[in-house]
Amino acid sequence: DNHNLFAALRAAFPADLDKPAIEVLDGPAAGSVYSWRDLDRATAMMANLIDSLALPPASRIAVQTEKSVEALVLYLAVLRAGHVFLPLNTAYQEAEIAYFIGNAEPAMVVCAPKNFTWVSRIAFSSGTAHVFTLGDDRTGSLLERAAHHGDQHTPAVRQADELAAILYTSGTTGRSKGAMLSHGNLLSNAQVLKSYWDWQPRDVLIHALPIFHVHGLFVASHGALLNGSTMLWLNKFEPKTVIAQFPRATVFMGVPTLYVRMLGEAALTKAQTAHMRLFISGSAPLLVETFDAWTERTGHVILERYGMSETVMLTSNPCRATDGARQRGTVGPALPGVGVRVVRDDGNACDTDEIGHIQVQGPNVFAGYWRMPEKTAEEFTTDASGGRWFKTGDVGKRAADGFITIVGRSKDLIISGGYNVYPAEIEGFINEMPGVAESAVVGVPHPDFGEGVIAVVVAKPGATLDAAAMVAKLKTQIANFKVPKHLFVVADLPRNAMGKVQKNLLRDQHKGLFA
Ligand code: ATP
Ligand code: MG
Repeated sequence: DNHNLFAALRAAFPADLDKPAIEVLDGPAAGSVYSWRDLDRATAMMANLIDSLALPPASRIAVQTEKSVEALVLYLAVLRAGHVFLPLNTAYQEAEIAYFIGNAEPAMVVCAPKNFTWVSRIAFSSGTAHVFTLGDDRTGSLLERAAHHGDQHTPAVRQADELAAILYTSGTTGRSKGAMLSHGNLLSNAQVLKSYWDWQPRDVLIHALPIFHVHGLFVASHGALLNGSTMLWLNKFEPKTVIAQFPRATVFMGVPTLYVRMLGEAALTKAQTAHMRLFISGSAPLLVETFDAWTERTGHVILERYGMSETVMLTSNPCRATDGARQRGTVGPALPGVGVRVVRDDGNACDTDEIGHIQVQGPNVFAGYWRMPEKTAEEFTTDASGGRWFKTGDVGKRAADGFITIVGRSKDLIISGGYNVYPAEIEGFINEMPGVAESAVVGVPHPDFGEGVIAVVVAKPGATLDAAAMVAKLKTQIANFKVPKHLFVVADLPRNAMGKVQKNLLRDQHKGLFA
């Protein structure tokens, strides 16, 4: 039996291979349509090229290229050839690439043609034997070389627990860690989502997310591929283009900021979204304001789900009405087959609605961090009962109906005067005030309280905010120990390459405030 993820995806291709698999909407290839046969042949040719290099087993193949269908083909070809795909964020610069290549020691690197000079130098000094280039317009040595190989290829035989990909985390809380994901981790999760999100034969997915991250590479691509669904493909998210495609599509996946940007477009209406079946949000907290505004404008209730690089998807609001209603502000119950528990600092189970640390287990949970055995050991529990749970680093609670609410990350938790302060709660009150676009609440060292609460707030375009009035208002709403001692109005919040707010930078910036 072959447990290679590619074999399962290939088996799900429609019988009629001439049907469209991917239609490109933007960029140099706009207007191109790739059939399922094209995907099969292109992945075979690239897998044959990789085979011809006779790389050692389980070689890492590191990839930093602009998004394109060929870049997705490369991912599938690496699976097909049985090696380990290692995608890198396109925003990473020289120092970051040097770290990742030095850390992962890939046998093969694929980069954008314009970066060849410096990437190949880094690869050379790290002992990487093969460097190829791939542009978003079919330029580069990878396709040139693959063109000389045959278009038939038998997928390499892999066991479910063999490595398929190493995904570096977004680096929101510190240095990125390489999560080692197996064929079984990825396939089991894709199969659960296919059923839980009720994928239909008529489904068409708008794919507008980057493909170096769990959301776009795994959740979105696997979803469409495993269902034999056509993808409408955008290299870059553009709200007007996406909205214009809604009448031809049924499923859209996005991070919260994509929803916020579409809400800014007058073209977003009930009529325009009438053909859509499902809107999914994840990767960062979806503000209740966005959730409500979307329902009001489109009549669709966004399905919010929760996952991470180390585990793929963990919880999801229901899709089918028979599984229950979607609840704003929550990420839904554990997915079928996934174990989610909430525990106190001492490891004992929390009561219903009690805030604690979220821990998970299941066939989707990764084996460990690449070359970080101590970190891996730290992040898994060793229960007396023999249970082994991954510590997500997220803090939340479980309601009586099993729905999970995330209140923040344990690293962002504030302890002020001995009291726990959950940033998400205070941010919720601030975000509801008129003229506020978004906010971040953090703790900084304080001589009397240990940590003092501060808020950093961004105004909506054209709005002016009165910090003192906002603090006064908060005093009437929440306990005094939670009220920010300083509220800063700023132009924007610091974000990492994935668009996630970097609270560690805010803490650093304001660490001397109470000194
Ligand atoms: P690092 O681990 O390097 O600090 P990261 O945790 O941001 O970075 P990812 O694996 O990309 O890297 O992100 C997973 C995290 O994203 C989760 O642990 C969680 O904090 C957050 N997240 C994902 N989905 C949601 C959601 N629906 N609501 C709130 N937070 C979410
Ligand atoms: Mg993380």
